[in-house]
Amino acid sequence: MNLKSLTFKGGVNVPGHKEMTENLPIKRAVEPAVVTIPLHQHTGAPCEALVKVGDRVKVGQKIGQSDAFVSASVHSSVSGIVKSITPMAIPTGLIVDCIVIESDGKGELDEPITEPKDLEELTSDEIIQIIREAGITGMGGAGFPTHVKLSPPSGKKIDTIIINGAECEPYITADHRNMVEEPEKIVFGLKVIMKAVKVEKGIIAIEENKLDAISALIEASKDEPNITVIPLKVKYPQGDEKRLIDATLNRQVPSGGLPMDVGAIVCNISTTKAIAEAVQMGKPLYERVVTVTGNGIKEPKNLIVKIGTSFKDVIAQCGGFTEDAPGKIIMGGPMMGISQFSIDVPVIKGTGSILVLTEEEAKPVKVSPCIKCGKCLEVCPVKLQPLYLSTFSLKGRFDKAEEFHALDCVECGACSYICPAKRPLVESIRIAKKEIITKRKKAN
Ligand code: SF4
Ligand code: SF4
Repeated sequence: MNLKSLTFKGGVNVPGHKEMTENLPIKRAVEPAVVTIPLHQHTGAPCEALVKVGDRVKVGQKIGQSDAFVSASVHSSVSGIVKSITPMAIPTGLIVDCIVIESDGKGELDEPITEPKDLEELTSDEIIQIIREAGITGMGGAGFPTHVKLSPPSGKKIDTIIINGAECEPYITADHRNMVEEPEKIVFGLKVIMKAVKVEKGIIAIEENKLDAISALIEASKDEPNITVIPLKVKYPQGDEKRLIDATLNRQVPSGGLPMDVGAIVCNISTTKAIAEAVQMGKPLYERVVTVTGNGIKEPKNLIVKIGTSFKDVIAQCGGFTEDAPGKIIMGGPMMGISQFSIDVPVIKGTGSILVLTEEEAKPVKVSPCIKCGKCLEVCPVKLQPLYLSTFSLKGRFDKAEEFHALDCVECGACSYICPAKRPLVESIRIAKKEIITKRKKAN
């Protein structure tokens, strides 16, 4: 293999911490006794429950949907009895209606959402409909409904699909293991997406520290002339979709724009695998690979977990915590993940990782005044000026933050990571973004 690795300007090198799980094969988690399935775990309209308390449900049965186009149906991940439908906290920090199901342990499957068909027999519209029926969303964390992403407006000409195998967030290895263990599914999923969007060119982009994944995907795509595997330099945030487009296609998404504005659509690895399973097996999205990792976990693992399983159950299967009181529990990675205040929250479609840090690792850092070193400007992949944005935000000058393009911040945290004064840069810019968006909504 002698391929040139590509990258983008800016970014930071962060310790990977992937050694804890990168070579551990994916194992199936123990069947949960109870699952809590949120009716709103995606961007867009929440689902309405299709079942009521006392109903019996099967694995894969649709239990919630919305008529809105921007939404994603939810399915039961166990067979059993609906015990309650009630508002509960989910790991995104929201409180949403959830369907609580007690498993009967039988794992009785519902009818598949589609009959197995050759890809050649399916039209673009039929594929989009299968993906919608399967409730597939972006599984990298954003939770945007995939059938919407794959239905660009008619004025937008897409010529390339990029599958995001960068997995640049430290600790997480779920996508890496999916690529190593199921490369044929990833390639098939990409072919499905290319057919759905009527695109001839497919790219699978992978950071060069995952050589086994690169080899597996080159082998799995060797008879696919329209698919190229591209190695990327190891740099954070290489997996940000606009950075990925920059690195692989040398196209820059304009300020406020979307990948489709430069002819590209980016899909996550786990999402691509879910698409393959929906088309090949008629399987809706009711389980996913979760990396359970960090020095605060006794036995780190890559597990296939049923959606709705509590973090508490998953952590218990990994031997529990290494300390009486863990320092920090995060859904996702340390750079962009969401801190958790309880482990009584369910795994959702966007849960790629449960990361547990020790008390020592999670100690608060001492913040000092800015020394005007300029490092935050150097690393910002969007070429923003984080120190000014942060200062405007902390002074409540959100109009100035808007003028300095705060909304283009992808919240990667590279500026906060590099700052020697440990200024709360991304945290304050996030506040400014929320204020600007609220102001714009009020104005409309
Ligand atoms: S300003 Fe935003 S995009 Fe730039 S480095 Fe900081 S968090 Fe990342
Ligand atoms: S990196 Fe930190 S100390 Fe350096 S200019 Fe930016 S905010 Fe100031």
